Amino acid sequence: MPIRAKLTLLTVATLSVILASVGGFLLVRLRADLIHGVDQNLDTRAAQISLGLGDGCGGEFQDVSDSSLVGLPQGESGAQFLSVRGVVLESSGDQIAERALIEESALADAVSGSHVRQTLVLGSDRESFRILAVALPSGSCRGVIVVGTSLDEVGRSVHRLAVLMLIGGPVAMLLAAAGGWLLATRALRPVARMTLEASEIDANRLDERVQVPAQTDELRRLAETLNTMLDRVQTGVEQKRRFVADASHELRTPLAVMSAELDVTLRDPSLDQRARATLQSAREEITRMSSVVENLLELARVDEGRLTLDIGEVDLADVAARVAAETHSLSRDKSLEVVLACERAPIRGDVERLVRAVANLLGNAVKYSPAGASIEITTQAVRGESILRVSDHGPGIPASMQTTIFDRFVRVDDSRSGQTGGSGLGLAIAREIVEAHGGRIWVESTEGAGSSFSLALPTA
Ligand code: ADP
Repeated sequence: MPIRAKLTLLTVATLSVILASVGGFLLVRLRADLIHGVDQNLDTRAAQISLGLGDGCGGEFQDVSDSSLVGLPQGESGAQFLSVRGVVLESSGDQIAERALIEESALADAVSGSHVRQTLVLGSDRESFRILAVALPSGSCRGVIVVGTSLDEVGRSVHRLAVLMLIGGPVAMLLAAAGGWLLATRALRPVARMTLEASEIDANRLDERVQVPAQTDELRRLAETLNTMLDRVQTGVEQKRRFVADASHELRTPLAVMSAELDVTLRDPSLDQRARATLQSAREEITRMSSVVENLLELARVDEGRLTLDIGEVDLADVAARVAAETHSLSRDKSLEVVLACERAPIRGDVERLVRAVANLLGNAVKYSPAGASIEITTQAVRGESILRVSDHGPGIPASMQTTIFDRFVRVDDSRSGQTGGSGLGLAIAREIVEAHGGRIWVESTEGAGSSFSLALPTA
């Protein structure tokens, strides 16, 4: 789930809890306050009735709720004057006032001098009433005054507030959700930008950094941390490139010396057969190692931006012929037939580098072709492009790998390259060289049937 959705949900959940608690508290508080007001009215009514009865009960029983003191409709209030035994001596109000409104225990409490307050459900319509029972002040007249008022109006007020909350709550939550979503989107925008910037920094753009936000906050620290990490990655990669370049450079001379010495030794006719075979095998291994070292050096030059081209007029047909001649001994060893079908394909480029690129393509064709097969090299100029193609009848390359095969150290399968001793650098170098010339390189291949590697450069 995206962080934005989580934040929005969290906002809404928190707000619901707050709204529910505050709403509940308000409803309870409102009801308590309204009942307190009702109780005060009941006190006043009881005092008025007590005054009306006067000393010695000589006066008149008169419920002020009959007038407008409470302002409640007649049917919703009542008053009684009870003897200490609970007999109704006087009453006013509707039928509920015809029986004693309070229980015996409450009557006893009132007689003993307490102000008894109760909330009762009375009448056939089960209405809530607030009741107060008080004894007459001590004197010759003894009895208990009971006054009651319906809590209908209190219930209605509480209900109105509850309805308002039930409507207002979801609206407030919707607004909070929209606000939360917008805020989260705004707050996370720099993160999205940083993610995009960081994802675009690859091995070739290690000097780039993510933009650091102006305000000092967590996002700024995140950007700074990312940039520090990129510094370390860049240093590490540069050190590795330097190491590869230096190591390749150091290996180059001893390999050349060993190769020359072996050549001289192999020319000695007195060399016995077994020693000759061993030295020949060593010579081949050294040639292969030299090729890997040369490839590494070339890639190091590309990485350090030191690949400078010695541009001149070149015909790809000549490049093809030269590479075919140089590879002759290898193809002969496997009884391969290299067929040249070359038309003029003039370009402007660095002939030595192009020879290296084409040699890598032809070297692969030779390596991966079965003995006795044929390899075709064609060149032609078509619609402003000079194209060189090397086609073989080898094992082919699976469709899923036909673009990645040009990346460094990528091999179709290690067992195949293990037998042939590949390093996965030849096609990467070929691509670097072709792209440095403003050209393109690609492969068309059917697994089991063969491969056709092509490079196209602008015709001169
Ligand atoms: P390698 O030194 O391993 O040959 P490359 O970069 O030249 O490295 O080639 C990468 C991989 O592509 C090879 O390991 C091989 O699996 C595959 N490949 C290249 N050329 C051919 C070809 N002509 N036929 C079949 N597979 C090939």
